[in-house]
Amino acid sequence: MKLGGEANKLIILESEKEVEKFFKTNKDPFIVISGGSNLLIDDKYFNGNIIKIDIKGITKTDHKEYTVLEIGAGEVLDKVINYSVNLNLSGIEAMSKIPGLIGATPIQNVGAYGQDISQVLISLKAYDLSTNKIVELSNKDCEFSYRQSIFKNPKTRKHLILSLKIKLSKKPLKSAPYKAIEDYLKRNQIEDLSPLSIREAVSKIREEKLPDPLKMPNVGSFYKNPIVSEATLNRLLSRYENMPYFEDSSKNSKTKKYKLAAGWLIDQAGLKGYSRYGFMIYPKNALVITKIKDSTNFCDLMKFSKIITKKVKDQFGIELKIEPEIFNI
Ligand SMILES: Cc1cc2nc3c(=O)[nH]c(=O)nc-3n(C[C@H](O)[C@H](O)[C@H](O)COP(=O)(O)OP(=O)(O)OC[C@H]3O[C@@H](n4cnc5c(N)ncnc54)[C@H](O)[C@@H]3O)c2cc1C
Repeated sequence: MKLGGEANKLIILESEKEVEKFFKTNKDPFIVISGGSNLLIDDKYFNGNIIKIDIKGITKTDHKEYTVLEIGAGEVLDKVINYSVNLNLSGIEAMSKIPGLIGATPIQNVGAYGQDISQVLISLKAYDLSTNKIVELSNKDCEFSYRQSIFKNPKTRKHLILSLKIKLSKKPLKSAPYKAIEDYLKRNQIEDLSPLSIREAVSKIREEKLPDPLKMPNVGSFYKNPIVSEATLNRLLSRYENMPYFEDSSKNSKTKKYKLAAGWLIDQAGLKGYSRYGFMIYPKNALVITKIKDSTNFCDLMKFSKIITKKVKDQFGIELKIEPEIFNI
């Protein structure tokens, strides 16, 4: 979003050994940044360091029906997807073009168009800041749910992610993983469901819906899609019968929950294209906020967001939650 002030130092750690050595002796406050695409940082001076885990490398182990990739946290996610698609491997192709590094994907269980990292992750290696030891965490240990994990939860976050082990299928998908992809393939008379075909479809869909962050600063989805109970869903459907919703497929929810489309709620509140304080609701996609004035700042963004969340709350009784990580210094 091109916000944030200055910090003391940028420290780039390129191996597990460097991470261990640095944190055993250095106790200064720090913020971890990978690609910086999902962060909102206060404009004040940060009296601490910025840490980047930049461990590179991909190793591949072949099995009969699947391939396991072990990937350093510093690899760019879309490059890993391109690499796997070129090997004709399926599992992350629908996550094409999501910015950032692979090491950040477990934080909010990154995903798009029916796939997310929890569906392919076997385990990951992380540096545990409470014990100063490198640990291996299984998929279950990460407690993934929709845009959530132990790494995002402030009560349980204490790990620096060093590498990921993921399992990708040698078989292509049997059907399109998401309605928007299915519609795109139909519209363009494409029957091919190979990883490359899905990657190309997703890339086109995203081009139409999302502004390029290098040209129009943004963090992708600004709000999480709200998860509601069946009673809340029915209350809303009785007033808005065309409201889109999806059953929440998170493994962790015990009762039936439903996911609403935050972008639809914002759109219905009449806010598409709305601008104030140097920020704007992107006219082609109400879930995205773009920065349209260079001189604007973090406080202005929080004021702008309050207007949006209040309008949605007043109209639907739904509390929108900001999706990116906020570092309030
Ligand atoms: C145009 C656009 C489209 C997007 N589309 C999607 C989408 O479809 N789906 C989706 O889920 N997200 C999406 N995002 C959000 C973002 O790309 C993802 O969340 C991505 O994983 C962030 O990666 P990053 O490397 O930029 O992480 P950063 O923004 O640098 O960091 C994000 C968080 O992870 C922490 N972190 C980063 N690396 C590590 C590490 N190695 N160890 C411990 N903590 C770490 C940071 O401290 C921070 O809390 C989009 C963003 C943009 C700008």
